[in-house]
Amino acid sequence: TGTKWVLGNWKMNGRLASNQALLAALLTDAQVNVAHVGLAVPTVYMAQVAQTLSGQPMAWGGQAVSRFAADGAYTGEVNAAMLADLGASFTLVGHSERRQYFAESDEVLSAQIRHAREAGLLPVVCVGEGLAAREAGEHEAVVAAQIDGVIAALQGSERVVVAYEPVWAIGTGLTASLGQIVAMHEKIRACLLEKLASSCTILVLYGGSVKADNAADILALSEVDGVLVGGASLVAEQFSKVCYGA
Ligand code: 13P
Repeated sequence: TGTKWVLGNWKMNGRLASNQALLAALLTDAQVNVAHVGLAVPTVYMAQVAQTLSGQPMAWGGQAVSRFAADGAYTGEVNAAMLADLGASFTLVGHSERRQYFAESDEVLSAQIRHAREAGLLPVVCVGEGLAAREAGEHEAVVAAQIDGVIAALQGSERVVVAYEPVWAIGTGLTASLGQIVAMHEKIRACLLEKLASSCTILVLYGGSVKADNAADILALSEVDGVLVGGASLVAEQFSKVCYGA
């Protein structure tokens, strides 16, 4: 299935000095043609990351983007055109923490996806069920509904990237089993194939407690096109190993 993707999500972490040390270590380890590597970084550090990664085999992007496209009176917001202006190539959309803490609805996420696309950014759409839904056996229905909720905004894309991140596996040290990952990735791909043009390239990434010691097994699955890494992306030795192997 080609080169796998490894995206790091720094979440609300980092300082100038620690970012510089982390990026320097990652660039020392970087290898081309092993993985497509990207970092989703805090907005306030984008200029630093853009400058440091300039000309390097590592992309970067946003963790979220405004639901508003136009410049103007939206205090505190950062729009997709601004991210693109700095050289971002992608943005996460609909991370479970955005859905939970900022009540981002399907309508808001659809607007973010449309604006990201208009600005030339790849939206990486995050989906995933909570523990209660998993225990009730409703995980596939929950994820299918999340995809349905944004599918119109994805129509006409040449490439659609969805990250499956079960909420119960995020930051808990509890990864989904390989069987659970395969089953859900197959479901997600089927949902997308049913609704999108057949010419569309679909990539499904897994996220949730991916670390150096479990990444190889997850990335070896043919149903997994890549991983989205939170905590371990803040530790150079961990993230490099996820990206480039031992
Ligand atoms: P952890 O890797 O820390 O579980 O976080 C996963 C995640 O939410 C990435 O977006």
